[in-house]
Amino acid sequence: MKILISADMEGATGVTWPADVLPGTPEWQRCRSMFTSDVNAAVLGFFDGGADEVLVNEAHWTMRNLLLEQLDERVEMLTGRHKSLSMVEGVQHGDVDGIAFVGYHAGAGMEGVLAHTYLANSLTGVWLNGERASEGLLNARVVAEYGVPVVLVTGDDVACEDALGYAPEALKVAVKDHVSRYAAVCRTPARTAADIRAAAKEAVQLAVRQEPVDEGPFTVAVEFDAEHLAMAATVVPGVARTGERRIAYTSGTMYEGIRTFKAVTTIVSAAIEEQYG
Ligand SMILES: [Zn+2]
Repeated sequence: MKILISADMEGATGVTWPADVLPGTPEWQRCRSMFTSDVNAAVLGFFDGGADEVLVNEAHWTMRNLLLEQLDERVEMLTGRHKSLSMVEGVQHGDVDGIAFVGYHAGAGMEGVLAHTYLANSLTGVWLNGERASEGLLNARVVAEYGVPVVLVTGDDVACEDALGYAPEALKVAVKDHVSRYAAVCRTPARTAADIRAAAKEAVQLAVRQEPVDEGPFTVAVEFDAEHLAMAATVVPGVARTGERRIAYTSGTMYEGIRTFKAVTTIVSAAIEEQYG
């Protein structure tokens, strides 16, 4: 029994502010240990529940945030960037029975603490086959193609509500309650670790590999906060401009869909200027 943990930071315990998740800041240094505490609690809970292997895939920003030295010694951690499946790298080898989304958050344009989809501000909305999409929804569709169920989601209460849509069965742990984009009622790391560990232990029961899902084609639509970003994104083959600040593309599989999304966001982030966006 192998569990994969996709670990993002905006939905971690105590995190409510951009500097909390921005590598290099003193606030980020402080929040790394609370983020690590959430992940380690999930690791401990999965082993409590009978998992034989747990792999953590870092999924935030530079993908170098977790404190390896503070994790349970049974775990393995994939750290660093440039991975075929980005946030859910590791799911594609046929040996993962369940995946946990730890530290997840609401999508671009939604309510929720530090809500965004990939880029912090420049994307104002993402839709997957017409449905408003968070990173959780996009990644859930990717892992379904490998027959891997989402068994646990942690984040703020809005992220947990969002997960009801894409992983109704999964256990959810709200480590904080949304007040605004930059404010939340937070619970202590000791309290959230106990909650996450208990939920992860129970979630192991849900880690049963399914038949791979083939639900394509997938149409991904993206809205930007500036028209030149939509224009810049059209250099990616298959991406068409559908409005002044909108693009869309269609992929046969979500594997292709998420990789094209990565290409779009990479191109677009290179087109953002500090002053005028
Ligand atoms: Zn994220």
